[in-house]
Amino acid sequence: MTKRYTIIANWKMNPGTKQEALRLFKNVLKEKALLRKIHIIVCPPFLYISLLSLNKGKNMVSIGAQNISRLAEGPHTGEVSGSMIKSAGATHAIIGHSERRAMGETDEVIGEKMRQAMKSNLYAILAVGESEPGEDAHRILEEELKKALSGILLTDMKRILIAYEPRWAISKGKDDTGANSDTPEHAFEKAIFIRRILANLYNSSIAQKTPVLYGGSVRSKNISVFVNADSPFDGALVGGASLDAREFLELLRRIHIK
Ligand code: PEP
Repeated sequence: MTKRYTIIANWKMNPGTKQEALRLFKNVLKEKALLRKIHIIVCPPFLYISLLSLNKGKNMVSIGAQNISRLAEGPHTGEVSGSMIKSAGATHAIIGHSERRAMGETDEVIGEKMRQAMKSNLYAILAVGESEPGEDAHRILEEELKKALSGILLTDMKRILIAYEPRWAISKGKDDTGANSDTPEHAFEKAIFIRRILANLYNSSIAQKTPVLYGGSVRSKNISVFVNADSPFDGALVGGASLDAREFLELLRRIHIK
């Protein structure tokens, strides 16, 4: 059976207007054949979720949020709940992105957000990874995974995707050349380690079935290094390169699907 890779487009705090957001989205939608072969999850800022979802039509593309509140509802100014994300038309939420961890999000808060995502019937894209090259990545990954998945039932695991994103490999945005990506050897070993942790926490079937993605300076020029038939990754989380329609589509075309 052909594998359907997953590519997440994390737009971060871009683009600046809803008109630009719609233009970027419509350029991606033009590639109908690619959308059928690759599961693309576009994660715009919260404010554009409804707009994209209303313009998605029958296209096989998913919409995700970049964050979710750890709380369900109530007097929490500025928060956006799982139920709001869902009713705006998103199906996924990125949780634990390193840029949010850098703003003070702890593993405990990330665990609460994961549980809220499950309660709201969303898919959670859990981002994990060490901060500096040479750090004890195994220890960090194990700790991040255990805390984020605490209280997540085996039956919920079909709604979890994991993105291995070494923080030091994440680019500074659209104009960054993406030269800092991880090496395939280092990243592949982490994907295998993540599956080992999942096997310990759940079982070997969950470890095999849970999609594990690579993120960190992925561009059209290096996507095939991380996403190919011999790679343990099931796709990629793409930041900067997803903001340029031409580059993003080229990246998708370079994913070799047998
Ligand atoms: C990201 O947003 O998680 C990311 C990996 O960004 P970039 O592709 O720009 O490194």
